[in-house]
Amino acid sequence: MSRAFNFAAGPATLPEPVLRQAQEELMDWHGVGASIVELSHRGPEFMEVAAQAEADLRRLVSIPDDYAVLFLQGGATAQQALMALNFTSPGQRVDYVVTGHWGKTALKQVRPYCDVNVAADGEPGGFRDIPGRETWKLSPDAAYVHYTANETIHGVEFHDIPDVGEVPLFADFSSSIASEPLDVSRFGLIYGGAQKNLGPVGVAVVIVRRDLLERAGQPRAEILDYRAHLKGDSMLNTPPTWNWYLAGLVFKWMLAEGGVEEFARRNARKAGLLYDVIDHSGGFYRNDVAVAARSRMNIPFFLHDPSLDAAFLERAAQNGMISLKGHRVLGGMRASIYNAMPEAGVQALATFMRDFQQRNG
Ligand code: PMP
Repeated sequence: MSRAFNFAAGPATLPEPVLRQAQEELMDWHGVGASIVELSHRGPEFMEVAAQAEADLRRLVSIPDDYAVLFLQGGATAQQALMALNFTSPGQRVDYVVTGHWGKTALKQVRPYCDVNVAADGEPGGFRDIPGRETWKLSPDAAYVHYTANETIHGVEFHDIPDVGEVPLFADFSSSIASEPLDVSRFGLIYGGAQKNLGPVGVAVVIVRRDLLERAGQPRAEILDYRAHLKGDSMLNTPPTWNWYLAGLVFKWMLAEGGVEEFARRNARKAGLLYDVIDHSGGFYRNDVAVAARSRMNIPFFLHDPSLDAAFLERAAQNGMISLKGHRVLGGMRASIYNAMPEAGVQALATFMRDFQQRNG
């Protein structure tokens, strides 16, 4: 068996010990004679898995008790629409800070329900930087302010939590949750699809301040109602048990590795290695993001000569490094280096990039 270093942006690489454990437990979970995904979600076995996953996520991310945790379907995108239905009145003002592709997606989801104010927009600058906080045009009566903590495609990351005063701050943490310590109490709501830092695709996590769930919101069916999901332990209908179980294994793995403090150190070292190669390549490689806004999780880069792209990808694959092709929105390359990407993988990529430059420079 040979596993490649997989730099995919999500679905993304999972920790090997987690894959091994899942493989081991697939025929017979804890001696019950069936896998966990063949058992009722309402049975004691899965109820235990679900409760443990929540407890572990609470520990991992230091989620205060006055925040509820939901495990839902529909990915991050569904949550982007549901936040309008659950926390705004029809046509109410909401503020969006857009620093990349996913911030644009987020505001598209609420347009049918809200009066969207784009408080700041990085697009005129090509999403290469975060517009200065002093330029944001926030609305005092907004239901919330939304931003994207890490832009997975453009490689733009907030390294501080913006101060937006009394209006609740909502943040898309799809591609950076649990990558470093976070003061959850600064937020009204944090959400993300699991398929980058938390586990497999198919389950999304919502962390929401409980008092916000008392807002009336807009007319909606029960299945679109966060309050109902909370009351039903995120099991209003059949939940994605396999995904939830696997995410739970990833939480345990992260805790055993030393938690978010340890991952913050590893992630800083990993990103540092790649930016160093890029910045010292004399222009052979290029990353266009302002240094202070560069992502630790997703590093988009370009070769100075795009006609070398195909050879770069092919040689990388031959050397056991896959999924480096950039998103179609940007082109070029992208290395996604979430918690589960070992430092050895990033070292291998850095060495390969230097070697490729030497041969083709
Ligand atoms: N937000 C961010 C930051 C993302 O990276 C993605 C997916 N790449 C999404 C939202 C959309 O997530 P999903 O596919 O889970 O709906």
